[in-house]
Amino acid sequence: MAIPNGVKVGVLAAALVAAGFLFWKNSKSTDANSFLLNEAQQFFTCSQGHDFVLTAAESRANAQQNSGIILCPQCSSASSEAHPCPACKKLMPLVGHGNIPDVCPFCKAKVNPQAPAPK
Ligand SMILES: [Zn+2]
Ligand SMILES: [Zn+2]
Repeated sequence: MAIPNGVKVGVLAAALVAAGFLFWKNSKSTDANSFLLNEAQQFFTCSQGHDFVLTAAESRANAQQNSGIILCPQCSSASSEAHPCPACKKLMPLVGHGNIPDVCPFCKAKVNPQAPAPK
């Protein structure tokens, strides 16, 4: 499957299609849109290096309480969204406009299929 340049959205959408489908099957009262807004998991890493996961609803509430900044539940440092590396599972900080990096900073796996081949 090709991952478009809006990688964050693409990855999230792909994950949601899979997760949302399973979730949907198990819950009559929750539609895919509600899943996207409330149940979808978002990964964050704080400036002190703590990783944590919030649901979409939790991250929205967290940001609303803190002027749009997600604060780490452990140390209250500002946190930014991250994406789990498919190879080593560590959370990679996003780059640019919310895109996953070309290469995992931890295990050096090539994680962005859209990245130009190394020369
Ligand atoms: Zn922290
Ligand atoms: Zn990795």
